[in-house]
Amino acid sequence: MNATSPSPRAIVEVGGEKPYAITIGPGLLDDGALLGAGLRGRHALLVSDGNVAPLYADRVTQALRAARPDVRIDGYFLPPGEASKTLAHFAEAIDALAATGATRDACVVALGGGVVGDLAGFVAACWMRGIDCVQIPTTLLAMVDSSVGGKTAVDLPQGKNLVGAFHPPRAVIADTEALLTLPPRELRAGLAEVVKYGAIRDAAFLDWLEDRADALLAGDDAALADAIARSCRHKAEIVERDPFERGERALLNFGHTFGHAIEAEQGFGGLNHGEAVAVGMVLAARLSARQGLAGEAEAERLAALLARFGLPVALPGGLDPAALLERMRLDKKAAADGLRFVLWDGIGAARVVAGVADEAVLAVLEK
Ligand code: ADP
Ligand code: ZN
Repeated sequence: MNATSPSPRAIVEVGGEKPYAITIGPGLLDDGALLGAGLRGRHALLVSDGNVAPLYADRVTQALRAARPDVRIDGYFLPPGEASKTLAHFAEAIDALAATGATRDACVVALGGGVVGDLAGFVAACWMRGIDCVQIPTTLLAMVDSSVGGKTAVDLPQGKNLVGAFHPPRAVIADTEALLTLPPRELRAGLAEVVKYGAIRDAAFLDWLEDRADALLAGDDAALADAIARSCRHKAEIVERDPFERGERALLNFGHTFGHAIEAEQGFGGLNHGEAVAVGMVLAARLSARQGLAGEAEAERLAALLARFGLPVALPGGLDPAALLERMRLDKKAAADGLRFVLWDGIGAARVVAGVADEAVLAVLEK
């Protein structure tokens, strides 16, 4: 890289009561000034996991120390994986904050994927009734979804994300180079959520994704940065207008009612979240066609793009449609008036549809 010209970076502003910026570009993990800009006090707790910390924690810590020698930086590292998103690890992280003598102006720095971001964000939401959290997402999924919008949570044995809070981050810093070490399956899972933004509200973005699919799969920095910035812009627009999910934010659940049911039915050991959402989006598009809202061809176009990204587009074998339907009834997004789905009137035009008949859902699951 040319040392004389700064690397290109995109900035997405998220408005609302507590505005913040998402900065996207290569090499940001070494930018101490950027990383440290969110630190108001003299304490920071770097939360990461056992895969990400060995790769990036030293770099981030050194960059921060160079820029902010006045700040004491401690670390708390989780075992990798969703199984770590527990109240027990939450309590350990709180203990770590207490041990550093963190005050009200302390900052939690979340370095990792969605698991780290969700737990660290919740820790920040709770310590002294809420302190700053800087999100440094290292998975594509976290960059385009979980690190933006302020949802934080941990899981209970009874279900995922049952204990949590809305707590917007102070800043989000997405280093596209961190994606180079991400397992390809995790990159593809993130692409499912990227495709979702095109599907629900940006047909031109879907065209662009079809065009740039090979570059994205090859990990092309500029293509990834564009895709992340465009996805974050969509998410920012939505959460700005509907921070607490009373309306429009529900559109972000396109493919998720089916997807969550698949994940749960497989005991969270089968498809990962992005893969389940890919299948779920295709099912939602097919259900839309069956309901006469949109054409079959659009559903198949979506399926073709997801398949090109190496994502599954059909129900995995061995899943019972009736059991999936029952799961969807239990989904917290199912309202009293029958099943509610995010469907579409075609590519780029999603909307919530209530009162979908069981038979229609079963027909799509059985096809
Ligand atoms: P999510 O997909 O919700 O972001 P995780 O936080 O569980 O989920 O991250 C997925 C997996 O990828 C975890 O095992 C995590 O440790 C690992 N991981 C995250 N970021 C990177 C990275 N940049 N390089 C290598 N592995 C990573
Ligand atoms: Zn999702």
